[in-house]
Amino acid sequence: MEKSGAAVQAQNGLVRSGTDPLRGSPAVQPKWTIEQSEELYRINGWGEPYFAINAVGHVTVSPQGDRGGSIDLFELVNALRQRNLNLPLLIRFSDILENRLERLNACFSRAITRYSYPGVYRGVFPVKTNQQRHLVEDLVRFGKPHQFGLEAGSKPELLIALATLRTPGALLVCNGYKDREYIETAMLAQRLGHTPIIVLEQIEEVDLVIAASQKLDIQPILGVRAKLSSKGTGRFGTSAGDRAKFGLTIPEIIQAIDRLRDAGLLDSLQLLHYHIGTQICAIGVIKDAIREASQIYVELARLGANMKYLDVGGGLAVDYDGSKTNFHASKNYSMQNYAYDIVAEIKEACEERQVAAPTIVTESGTALAAHQSVLIFDVLGTSEVPSEVPEPLQEKEHLIIRNLSETYESIDAENYQEAFHDAAQFKEEAISLFNFGYLSLAERARAERLYWACCRKILAIARQQDYVPDDLEDLEKIMASIYYINLSVFQSAPDSWAIDQLFPIMPIHRLDEEPTERGTLADLTCDSDGKIDQFIDLRDVKSVLELHSLKQSHEPYYLGLFLCGAYQETMGNLHNLFGDTNTVHIKLTPKGYQIEHVVKGDTMTEVFELCAVRRGRSDRADAPSDGAGVAG
Ligand SMILES: *Cc1c(COP(=O)(O)O)cnc(C)c1O
Repeated sequence: MEKSGAAVQAQNGLVRSGTDPLRGSPAVQPKWTIEQSEELYRINGWGEPYFAINAVGHVTVSPQGDRGGSIDLFELVNALRQRNLNLPLLIRFSDILENRLERLNACFSRAITRYSYPGVYRGVFPVKTNQQRHLVEDLVRFGKPHQFGLEAGSKPELLIALATLRTPGALLVCNGYKDREYIETAMLAQRLGHTPIIVLEQIEEVDLVIAASQKLDIQPILGVRAKLSSKGTGRFGTSAGDRAKFGLTIPEIIQAIDRLRDAGLLDSLQLLHYHIGTQICAIGVIKDAIREASQIYVELARLGANMKYLDVGGGLAVDYDGSKTNFHASKNYSMQNYAYDIVAEIKEACEERQVAAPTIVTESGTALAAHQSVLIFDVLGTSEVPSEVPEPLQEKEHLIIRNLSETYESIDAENYQEAFHDAAQFKEEAISLFNFGYLSLAERARAERLYWACCRKILAIARQQDYVPDDLEDLEKIMASIYYINLSVFQSAPDSWAIDQLFPIMPIHRLDEEPTERGTLADLTCDSDGKIDQFIDLRDVKSVLELHSLKQSHEPYYLGLFLCGAYQETMGNLHNLFGDTNTVHIKLTPKGYQIEHVVKGDTMTEVFELCAVRRGRSDRADAPSDGAGVAG
């Protein structure tokens, strides 16, 4: 990862303020500002142009980007709660989806104009990114003016695509593992007026396709997925390269061409596809891949295939941490750069070899779907390390307590690092003394309280420094409060648990107040992995999040997890039997907003029924499977 140093300093400068922990009372200092919250949570970095903070310290959503009005997210959540839509709540903004789609098309049309590219752009949306019905339907509707199509990665997804896609001329790209049924269904879709393209991903599929074509007497449109040798660097970097799961190697592609030629189907081969992985954070990797693919494309044309489409797959990344770097949660290029590079490379390769320029296809999923969903949850309680100021030393206290007390009194900016080691050592000694019967329970409690008081004082000093010594880095984590959140990470943000994916998380109100606490988040499941303790940061990742202390009045404290519209919903699971959350679809109107759909989450009864159905099925071992998908 490489993140910029200049900006880090700016942030350190900001974080350095707050209550003076040495006295435990607010020090005289300027009021916390909205700008400080913006900087702290980096909302402009990851949120622009959709998310911002308003003058009363609430997060706002501008679903149409710079063009339309904005909605106060805090007020929206309150209004939804009054309609009995309880938290956690997934809020979808269909206008954001539309805006993302418009942007992607605009970037490609700008690139096509800039390079006088003689072909067109026809994107498809990979259904696997988010299969929810309302979302796919919206996407197809918004995409109509651009003849935007769909990509299916499995047989059930093909059925979704067939049921949803109604756009004349839009492509239906069929990827993934294919059996005879999948291939025949895709071919028959041609008769229904669709433009299905069957992408050969394994050499066995060539014979299946030839057989189906003869059986149905349909001349299909075919593609090949190439295993590129350019490798992705993202966490899915293994989607490319010789050992990748899918795709044909160059010798296999040649073999496929021969077989298709023999079967009289070489004219059917019209598309070259590759997909080097999701969240490709470095533009260099994208350029290498398109360069290699463009050369393969022109070669295929010269070998006599009827080439018309070059499909560059997914990988267009989202800047989750707003750092604009090649860190895995970020990206070092814009959507426009991406389009420029792809169009320019293809044009150059085709011109040089005098091959007609292809229709350019992308399969961007994350970049279209991530921004439109926001997950809102509340904090149920906190657990904090003791924060009281220790009582002064009494007459005859144990030596170890005197040592701790003296350490506490002496801590200053000169000796805080040394004091930390002293305090830690005295605490260890106190516990040993207790174990050998030399310290009473009350004395041990006193020693532990003194230790925490030392840590608090040391941490306050460390936070003021530009440089924190390595041995004190964990202090922030040791001292963090635990915020218990009304959420199952496994249900609502599974990638945060499974692959350490970072999502921006922040309070959606009280942003005009200083967040004086540092916390990690613990979810409702009884699983010790059900927690979030990695947060976006300008430099690398931070282990605690700045949060507000809960109000005595039990006023709710709402947090938002943003950019979670890609992959999370379907991958979420029922761990500890927490079902789906409530989902609402919000659309901007001239007067405010309108609730388009409410999709109620699972009730406990529904979750039980689901489990009963699954158990019932496995109890009947001889029962036929319902055949919904190859993978079951
Ligand atoms: C997952 C996948 C995509 C979507 O990738 P994103 O990086 O989310 O845009 C596109 N094409 C194929 C073949 C995929 O497997």
